[in-house]
Amino acid sequence: MVSNNAICCPQCQGQNVQLLSIILAAGTSHIQATHQAQSQSGFGPSVTVETSGRHQTHLAASVGPPPGKRLLGPVILTGVGAIILYDGLKLMNTYWGVDWTRFFIGAIFITVGVIGFVRHWKFNVAQYDKLEEWRRTWMCHACGTRFIP
Ligand SMILES: [Zn+2]
Repeated sequence: MVSNNAICCPQCQGQNVQLLSIILAAGTSHIQATHQAQSQSGFGPSVTVETSGRHQTHLAASVGPPPGKRLLGPVILTGVGAIILYDGLKLMNTYWGVDWTRFFIGAIFITVGVIGFVRHWKFNVAQYDKLEEWRRTWMCHACGTRFIP
């Protein structure tokens, strides 16, 4: 059966091409390495050194997907602002009136939180298109050209 993989590099016509997501997965691995380390004199007992962690090749790191932004931070900021604001308004029925310091601090927190949330949200929406594009992007191992077939 003939392979259907007719995708080739538009630059050099090479067939050694891969999806960026596959390069990323192939270049990212969890390593568990054990090696013997002899003491410097060469006589003492050898020490077993164990290394573990996430290993990523430079190539894999360079083809990572576009990052998104977390929405939790602005939400927390807005929540804290609401609590401070509420706290400031609680005094309304006392002869102190509204605690304007807390009122303004709370209002500022809420404003910054809401603006941050909208900004991050818009950023993520924009990134989503890039992510979709990234999913369809291939890279040529011969010349490094990135392309969408
Ligand atoms: Zn190429």
